[in-house]
Amino acid sequence: MRNVKVNAITLKKRDFKEKDRIVTVFTKEYGKYNLMAKGVQKLGSKLAGITEPISYSSLIVSNLKDLGVISSCDLKESFSNIHKNLNVLSHVLYILELTDKSTELEHPNEELFNALLSTLYLIEAGTNVDIAARYFEYSIINILGYSINTNSCQGCGCNLTDKIYYSAHFGGFFCETCNLSLNENIIFPQAILSYINVFDTYSVSKIKTLNFPTAVINDLSRLFKTHLAYRIDKQINSLEFIVKQKEDISSDI
Ligand SMILES: [Zn+2]
Repeated sequence: MRNVKVNAITLKKRDFKEKDRIVTVFTKEYGKYNLMAKGVQKLGSKLAGITEPISYSSLIVSNLKDLGVISSCDLKESFSNIHKNLNVLSHVLYILELTDKSTELEHPNEELFNALLSTLYLIEAGTNVDIAARYFEYSIINILGYSINTNSCQGCGCNLTDKIYYSAHFGGFFCETCNLSLNENIIFPQAILSYINVFDTYSVSKIKTLNFPTAVINDLSRLFKTHLAYRIDKQINSLEFIVKQKEDISSDI
């Protein structure tokens, strides 16, 4: 049996029988896998840390395949700061779920792995979690080939000004005149285009310094989530938790 070494981010875990656990990991080298961590529910298991979602580790897997067995591990980063704040944690769990729901098993995508890992490090280092989550949504949109056309009206090619109308079906924006026949009702201020452009032009290290107005963050969130939902077609459950949490926070004020 051949041992394979992988660099992996744990997306989710579930207990299996009395002692074992199945973890879904996204590996840099080979994409997403469900792997078996044997004996991990026993006290003092060396595998326990790497089965926790968000953890980044190096794993040795005997015979890499679906439900292959993890034989040893080296936990590289547990992202302890992320775990200290429930709001931050819930956004990161959403990012992991988005990665899980938008990828197939055994399809390598090193670019997506790198985007996920750098987003986790950005958040661990204290970057505004709402901006980091939007940065990751925009990254995954582009990496998976679902780019949003921001250059001009999808209908007539004119420059977009004032109010612009987003079409999930066409994956871009329309001017007011073209929208008379389309009748899309998702409207954004034209300024959203320059904020999207920031993600295109800023390096990862500069994302750390960004500070967008709340209304812009909300607009970007609405745009990226609508765009992804139309293309991924799977329910992202952790989103409901974030919304519920925000409602709870506002009702406390
Ligand atoms: Zn037009």
